[in-house]
Amino acid sequence: MSATEDCLFCKIAAGTIPSEKVFEDDTTLAFRDINPKAKVHVLVIPRHHYRDVAELAGQDPRELAHIVAVAQHIADQTFHGSYRLEFNTGKDAGQSVFHVHAHVLTGEVLDE
Ligand code: 5GP
Ligand code: ZN
Repeated sequence: MSATEDCLFCKIAAGTIPSEKVFEDDTTLAFRDINPKAKVHVLVIPRHHYRDVAELAGQDPRELAHIVAVAQHIADQTFHGSYRLEFNTGKDAGQSVFHVHAHVLTGEVLDE
């Protein structure tokens, strides 16, 4: 079995596991985190499988820029454009799903 066949977020991108989508286009999907850490907590992913943000930046920097634009769009819609963008990278930094995802935290004033 390849990494992508075994990947939770590939399955969410393919629609075989349901998610609460807030945005999608040909390359990119945004859906609500199942365990939200802010009033609005959305994960933005490329449909294509990359392990982490470093691999995405090296192989498809335009998609990384697009993910930032999608995050901005979500924050513009929900909280006048303010948001926190996190890419946990590596197990010891808290990455638990090894399909790159941007955490977009917004919708309320965030603690430092
Ligand atoms: P990480 O820890 O890798 O940076 O973030 C993974 C995120 O995925 C966590 O915030 C977790 O709550 C979320 N998550 C894990 N499984 C699911 C799921 O099946 N559906 C959704 N919507 N989010 C999930
Ligand atoms: Zn994947």
